[in-house]
Amino acid sequence: MTKPVAIVIGGGSTGAATAHDLALRGLKVILVERGEIASGTTGRCHCLLHSGGRYCVKDQEAGIECIEENIMLRKIMPDGLELNDGLFIAITDSDMDYKDKFIAGCEACHIPWEELTPQQALAIEPNLNPNLKAAIRVPDGVFEALRFCLSFLATAKKNGAEIHPYIEVLDLLSTGQGAIKGVHVQDRTSGRVYDIEGDIVISATGPWAGDIAAMAGASVPIQPTPGVMVSMNQRVVNLVVNRLNKAADGDIIVPQRQTSIIGTTSWPVDHADYIPVPEDHIQMMLEKGAELVPGIRQARMRGVFAVARPLIASAGQADGRELSRTFECFDHAKRDGVEGFVTITGGKATTARAMAEKTADVVCRKLGLDAPCRTRDTVLVSYREYYI
Ligand SMILES: Cc1cc2nc3c(=O)[nH]c(=O)nc-3n(C[C@H](O)[C@H](O)[C@H](O)COP(=O)(O)OP(=O)(O)OC[C@H]3O[C@@H](n4cnc5c(N)ncnc54)[C@H](O)[C@@H]3O)c2cc1C
Repeated sequence: MTKPVAIVIGGGSTGAATAHDLALRGLKVILVERGEIASGTTGRCHCLLHSGGRYCVKDQEAGIECIEENIMLRKIMPDGLELNDGLFIAITDSDMDYKDKFIAGCEACHIPWEELTPQQALAIEPNLNPNLKAAIRVPDGVFEALRFCLSFLATAKKNGAEIHPYIEVLDLLSTGQGAIKGVHVQDRTSGRVYDIEGDIVISATGPWAGDIAAMAGASVPIQPTPGVMVSMNQRVVNLVVNRLNKAADGDIIVPQRQTSIIGTTSWPVDHADYIPVPEDHIQMMLEKGAELVPGIRQARMRGVFAVARPLIASAGQADGRELSRTFECFDHAKRDGVEGFVTITGGKATTARAMAEKTADVVCRKLGLDAPCRTRDTVLVSYREYYI
């Protein structure tokens, strides 16, 4: 029996996890990515394996998704993660006022937490602000973006998926009767233009999802919302350090191998391809980062980068900090009357597996397949096997 063909557009965390899920359910998967794997938002984020602590007060749906996926990824991606934990530290009276809300939020989202005395926190992380007033330890972690995606893709390849980087979707192919039947692409290495046909097209294009949907005459309520991050040339802490307060500019330092990433800001832009990096955001990262770890000022700035979150916009919510970090799968047959086409967007890299599960459920339902999700307990092969 021939397998149904699913075309996945986008080789970030969402597309990679979706390719894996669909291949495991027995579909023939063809993934196309216009650049290198993880060259979009995924490759330029902080790479925090969220415990959910950053969302547990104001965005508990996202907080619960994060802790559930954090626990699952520890089991299925054993060689792709650094399980170093995170600290939320209070420095001011306003931070202290937030502490009880934070602990209640952790409890509500089932995030394991432990309060440390300032002395205990400084014993673990001697570079913390010595004036800290409180510290809460949570199971944050760190991943490396390319390895994260390759773990899913290596497993998808083993299950028969084809992965094609440097293939850009120029247009969607229409049946002429209100359905999508494939993609019109260009190979960016050779210039060759050709068509790929399939039974369903899945857009996992993050903040570019609006562009792909427009090719089908459809829409998704995406608000590209960038953040500026500053990478320093030393690993100044071993645990992830967060400010114990509601999400704000410069409230996190993520150790990434021998560097430290200070993040981040949040503002809306018209298009994810054009993100100016405001100079004052860089200075703000350095100032706010030094409130958490004063010695970070002695490190040298190694790089500055900005990338857009694919946030799902709701009417009347203009401020990116107010938009939920949860995700949504749009079936364009229901939304826009276009068959054969779905979009998965929003979410976090941390929740990529759950996003893929939801998408593959929609895809299987549309194709009339009875194939349950198996990604919750399928241990991924090593990212190293992607190249084998
Ligand atoms: C500043 C910042 C910090 C963040 N920090 C974290 C963090 O620490 N931890 C965390 O879990 N999440 C974090 N996130 C969120 C996370 O990065 C994103 O939610 C996630 O990476 C999105 O993945 P994606 O695969 O949906 O999108 P992307 O990674 O953007 O992938 C979409 C892909 O589609 C491709 N594409 C676009 N158009 C086409 C086309 N026409 N043809 C073919 N391919 C195309 C792009 O090249 C891109 O690679 C952060 C986000 C931001 C902005």
